[in-house]
Amino acid sequence: MNEARRKLVVGNWKMHGTHAANEALLEALKSAGPLPCDAAVCVPFPYLAQAAERLARSAIEWGAQDCSAHSQGAYTGEVSVGMLADFGCRYVIVGHSERRALHGESDQLVADKARAALASGVTPIVCVGETLAEREADDTEAVVKRQLSAVIHTLAHCTGEMIVAYEPVWAIGTGRTASPEQAQAVHALLRAQLRAATPQADRMRLLYGGSVKPDNAASLFAQPDIDGGLIGGASLKAADFLSICRASA
Ligand code: PEP
Repeated sequence: MNEARRKLVVGNWKMHGTHAANEALLEALKSAGPLPCDAAVCVPFPYLAQAAERLARSAIEWGAQDCSAHSQGAYTGEVSVGMLADFGCRYVIVGHSERRALHGESDQLVADKARAALASGVTPIVCVGETLAEREADDTEAVVKRQLSAVIHTLAHCTGEMIVAYEPVWAIGTGRTASPEQAQAVHALLRAQLRAATPQADRMRLLYGGSVKPDNAASLFAQPDIDGGLIGGASLKAADFLSICRASA
């Protein structure tokens, strides 16, 4: 384990939740007591205030799942990072594969969102990852490098302030996880790319995401360049999410 990098486990609730269900989930997370890692949940916009209120004075932080690249203006339906920062948001996921695939987000738009987040003091969790077709065509390295390169180029001297999440698209929500070796191999590539861009690369946290569950988290988190996880489905059950957090010890 790299002592310079405390593990981080982030839940991505996606478009799930109700006010009542969230109350129970947040209460269970809050009352879990000390965790061996940093932890956060990224919740749908309408529930940010609920997360902020319920997780106040707890070990668990909270964030959003997307943001606008613009600071304000005629962008109906969008939420700026300034608005998130206004009430203490800590993290924002940008470039999740569902946004890239379903909303046509380009590498450059993702990079612009990461830049907007940093400008408002919110830490972007930048997602990269290849599709199954790209992996089978042996394009994994080229794809993740291209995605990360757009962000590195756009952030320039701030590159060291972001978090990167490697999420192979074929592993998201499918129950099919990358093996620890497959994940580590891509994390090592990303770390090398970051080293070429910033002296802070060895302090940056690189998360793995894609069907992380209580029974596979420990072996993934034991890899030298995997500094925690971005957790979708399993973050909706307090017991599973907490068990994944504890697997980081
Ligand atoms: C995600 O949504 O980022 C994710 C990794 O989902 P899951 O854990 O369900 O695969």
